[in-house]
Amino acid sequence: MLQIYNTASRRKEQFRPIDRQHVRMYVCGPTVYDFAHIGNARPVVVFDVVYRLLERLYPDVTYVRNITDVDDKINARAKETGEDIRTLTERTARQFHADVAALGALEPDVEPRATDHIQEMIAIIVELLDKGYAYHEDGHVLFHVPSMPKYGALSGHSRDELIAGARVEVAPYKRDPADFVLWKPSETSLPGWNSPWGRGRPGWHIECSAMSMKYLGQSFDIHGGGRDLIFPHHENELAQSRCAHPGSQYAKYWMHNGYLMAEGEKMSKSLGNFYTINELLQEFPGEAIRLALLQTHYRQPLDFTKESLRQAKHTLDRFYAALRGVADIAPGDAKADDVMAALLDDINTPLALSALHAALGDLNKAGTDAEKARLKAILLDGGEVMGLLQQDPEAWLRWQPTGGAGLSDGEIESLIARRAAARKAKDFGEADRVRAVLSENGVILEDKPQGTIWRRG
Ligand SMILES: [Zn+2]
Repeated sequence: MLQIYNTASRRKEQFRPIDRQHVRMYVCGPTVYDFAHIGNARPVVVFDVVYRLLERLYPDVTYVRNITDVDDKINARAKETGEDIRTLTERTARQFHADVAALGALEPDVEPRATDHIQEMIAIIVELLDKGYAYHEDGHVLFHVPSMPKYGALSGHSRDELIAGARVEVAPYKRDPADFVLWKPSETSLPGWNSPWGRGRPGWHIECSAMSMKYLGQSFDIHGGGRDLIFPHHENELAQSRCAHPGSQYAKYWMHNGYLMAEGEKMSKSLGNFYTINELLQEFPGEAIRLALLQTHYRQPLDFTKESLRQAKHTLDRFYAALRGVADIAPGDAKADDVMAALLDDINTPLALSALHAALGDLNKAGTDAEKARLKAILLDGGEVMGLLQQDPEAWLRWQPTGGAGLSDGEIESLIARRAAARKAKDFGEADRVRAVLSENGVILEDKPQGTIWRRG
């Protein structure tokens, strides 16, 4: 049975889907104005593991992750660079897809774009106005927070704290300082859509309410995202969704991943610890980045360091070297029960990884082919649900950084052939010399009965 920590109840709960035949999950996706950074990668990888796990447990899973392609940050960036807004958002969305694919993230079932759902947003806003939860003032439509007595339950803050924490000048059109924007007017230079309140654009929160409910219904199972989204984003999503549809629950379970720091500090461009996924992928394979993100439990804060990536790469080298060693043995039908048990307990990825390490240790000591086949099956099965160990071991072990100055595969192969010829001719001096050249270039050789195999160290 799956247990997950529900932010709404602040405790671990048994996961009971609304419909056991069809589990539904929504995760807030990127706002597409710039390269995604490693902090953006964390929820993508965490909820990819949740998705893979749900796929194993239930007959049908729908995973929706949106793209926010209308936002003031996008408008500001386009103005700064002079780039057309649509060109900017499409290029950034393509880059995001390439980055997260490299991290081994499966595509969500639906990836709605906010700008394709403006009518759905308007329809919710109309409902909120009709029911008295919102008001129209000066081209703006605002959600009136005091109209919802339970507002603040998700984040656990009182309304007074929320207002004190907001530290913003209260706009003259707000009836209450906590009120938030559902719709705002757009000047002609900015993206805008016709609405009953004039030409304008949606607030951010209403986007996710509209897209989640369109594809998953008014009540669905899991809503995920980073901790930083609990307030105000998720609190506001929840308020407007429930008020528009009385009697609906909106999300039954709220899951949030912890904060991410880099090199012990809050990521910032001025500190030089602001890592985009794209630049990390020049230096490290995507799977090493994925492993580094999964080594910490998703609810814990994570200190992401380049050193952790080097170690993750090294760890995966050991797994893939073992898998290459059993390349000719077909995997058995054993299942990774320990990995599953760890993931069922609130996605305990550190524990799941230790189960994989235990299987690796056993594989390296295994005496019989049957035992090797069993352990290989466990590694591949447990790796699959975590999005790890699914590559061709040979390809993994030959990976090198983009623009790496090392030897090409062809140069390595021809040096290995030259060494073999020298050995055959009993010219051991020459054979050792060639081996040294390879070693200086980070190539590790292993002589096997069937020939020499190699990998980049
Ligand atoms: Zn959202």
